[in-house]
Amino acid sequence: MAIATTNPATGEVLKEFDALSDAEIEEKVARAAQAAQAHRATSFDERAGVLRGAADILDEDVDSLAVTMTTEMGKTITAAKAEIAKCAKGLRYYADHAPEMLADDIADADAVDASRAFHRFQPLGVVLAVMPWNFPLWQVIRFAAPGLMAGNVGLLKHASNVPQTALYLEDLFRRAGLVDGGFQTLLIGSKQVEAILTDKRVAAATLTGSEGAGRSIGETAGKQLKKVVLELGGSDPFVVLPSADLEKAAKVATTARCQNNGQSCIAAKRFIVHTDVYDEFARLFVENMSGQKVGDPTEDDTDIGPLATEQGRQDVVDLVTDATAKGARILTGGEVPDGPGWFYPPTVVADITTDMDIYGEEVFGPVASLYRASDTDDALRIANDTDFGLGSNVWTTDDAEIDKFVDGFEAGQVFVNGMTTSYPAIAFGGVKNSGHGRELTKFGIREFCNVKTVWIA
Ligand code: NAP
Repeated sequence: MAIATTNPATGEVLKEFDALSDAEIEEKVARAAQAAQAHRATSFDERAGVLRGAADILDEDVDSLAVTMTTEMGKTITAAKAEIAKCAKGLRYYADHAPEMLADDIADADAVDASRAFHRFQPLGVVLAVMPWNFPLWQVIRFAAPGLMAGNVGLLKHASNVPQTALYLEDLFRRAGLVDGGFQTLLIGSKQVEAILTDKRVAAATLTGSEGAGRSIGETAGKQLKKVVLELGGSDPFVVLPSADLEKAAKVATTARCQNNGQSCIAAKRFIVHTDVYDEFARLFVENMSGQKVGDPTEDDTDIGPLATEQGRQDVVDLVTDATAKGARILTGGEVPDGPGWFYPPTVVADITTDMDIYGEEVFGPVASLYRASDTDDALRIANDTDFGLGSNVWTTDDAEIDKFVDGFEAGQVFVNGMTTSYPAIAFGGVKNSGHGRELTKFGIREFCNVKTVWIA
């Protein structure tokens, strides 16, 4: 993919960038290695000062930065501003809380015949972050805030369609006073990643992206015996049971499917509804979905902007076409609108069978798959009949059902009577083909630490 800003609302290429040469990459990796030495020697207070400074800059830059994000990947301007605010909050959260997450973890000295025993969390060094375009700021801050607090430094390979947001991020940390080279953006294509990850000066990698990219980075990291965290795709179930508040569930279901123009890894994608309330939920859901305003993402009242890339929209079209050809029914949407830009309407697909591609694949656009479940066991069976395991949702007021789904979902996250959300204060990650490792909280911040065991006689 060319490294360029292309407005998805018009298809117009606005700015193109050359990929870095090998010599330029070498210079940046060398600078990162030096920065790692300098940054690990800083105190928590100094690191927290940088993060708070970056948060303040985001607050100041919100209007111009939101325009950049919307222009590069099509999210609504309202969503872009909300994402920036969330990043500022996340930076402040890790400035405040990382020291306690990284404090020495005291072990039972008596049990190991020591006078003192503990675990100390030390930085690994240079971490390569390969990131996607869908939350072009938050995905990066989700790694950078804990990572920098832990004393690591970052090399960012961002998605090729968000180069200006990527360059902004390097500048953000420079302006906030981070050590020289502590966070650098590499404008490179995905083929240039392997050599960087193989470089001895790069200690580890984190990838947020597709399953294919995960396999590729995981393979390289495995060969190099390097730690890797993989945050990959999802096809999250949203289970609705008879005791649920159906009106609220249908409203939240619409947001959960359509947020970010339907391009979120933790979007609810499969709506699995108990047969007793299926018809009523379907009616409410279709009403909500068809009421979404699709259009110019720079207008404040737009709910859904264009998909980020032409290929992304084609992938959605292909999945819906395959499903209808095999007998699925479209309850709303499903037609590509005329005109420029890569728009796709909110769509609900019913009567899906296992031979359809949409049954097993992630749909990265505002298309909801609707399933009828005969009882709670059947709902859980359908929910888990996927290679993915990122987020999951269940709507019920029955405590026994809550327990059943909290225990039974094969997923990294369960949200009850709400939609899956990435909050700074709770862990994020998946199981199965949605990846491994965690981001955020003490679990995430320690992923890129040497957990050093200390035993003192
Ligand atoms: P993608 O194609 O995998 O791209 C993600 C990043 O990986 C980009 O920087 C891309 O660079 C790079 N990349 C792609 N193939 C690579 C390879 N073989 N080796 C090294 N780097 C490679 O994913 P996307 O289409 O941008 O994003 C959508 C996917 O990300 C969805 O599956 C979504 O569910 C997932 N996602 C997961 C999470 C999570 O937290 N679990 C969050 C958001 C998105 P180029 O742009 O240069 O190709």
